Amino acid sequence: MAGIVQVGPLWRIASARMPTRWGTFEVIGFERDVSNGTRRVETALALVMGDPTEGVPLLRIHSQCFTGEMLGSLRCDCHDQLEMAMQAIAEEGRGLVIYEYQEGRGIGLMAKLEAYELQDAGLDTVEANHALGFKVDCRDFGLSAAILRDLGIKRVRLLSNNPRKAKALAENGIELVVQLSCEAVPNPHSLAYLRTKKEKMGHTLSLWQGESADQTKALPAVRSRGIASDTSDFNGGDHGRKVDVAWRARGIETQL
Ligand SMILES: [Zn+2]
Repeated sequence: MAGIVQVGPLWRIASARMPTRWGTFEVIGFERDVSNGTRRVETALALVMGDPTEGVPLLRIHSQCFTGEMLGSLRCDCHDQLEMAMQAIAEEGRGLVIYEYQEGRGIGLMAKLEAYELQDAGLDTVEANHALGFKVDCRDFGLSAAILRDLGIKRVRLLSNNPRKAKALAENGIELVVQLSCEAVPNPHSLAYLRTKKEKMGHTLSLWQGESADQTKALPAVRSRGIASDTSDFNGGDHGRKVDVAWRARGIETQL
């Protein structure tokens, strides 16, 4: 896992219009070669709305979650966070999501399932990664920083609860003007996982303690259109599903 990492140039593979239910983004595909003994290709998409070099755009760096985004898994908050970010960007008319192929914080889909199996046996997400021989988080976010530089973006407002992302951007010369909360409402299946992210990984999460759905509506913030207080509101459909999230634009003191 250690060793000298050689990074090749960043390639823009293609760009195209991508209408979404939140509005029309431009999707740009990026690749670069990385080698630390074995050569592999890093891939990411930038979903851009408006001119992100104007002002200080919203940015979400999002890692692929096949289980949450494609299968509707409730074990994590990834799907909700992606929707919150795209909606917040659409409401401002400017910003971007960088979507990286980093399933399971970079360990891959099969290892992520193995980690889930260990979590079903009682380990938490951190202990499970360690038991499998992985770091807690195998991502470095260098590709995201390279994409931002390629797009001419020097300053961002980061939509993330993860202090490592903020630190990585700062270390790569991207100015973080503010870090904004991107917190989904926990459900009974995700709560323990989110608590571990808060307590062991330093994520800035309130876990909505003591807040009812009514109270969250009072927060002065941009938010998702529908807020459900209970996962029973999930009906399995894509467009009909109430979004069990709320977008909260409160500044977090960045720990850089
Ligand atoms: Zn996930």
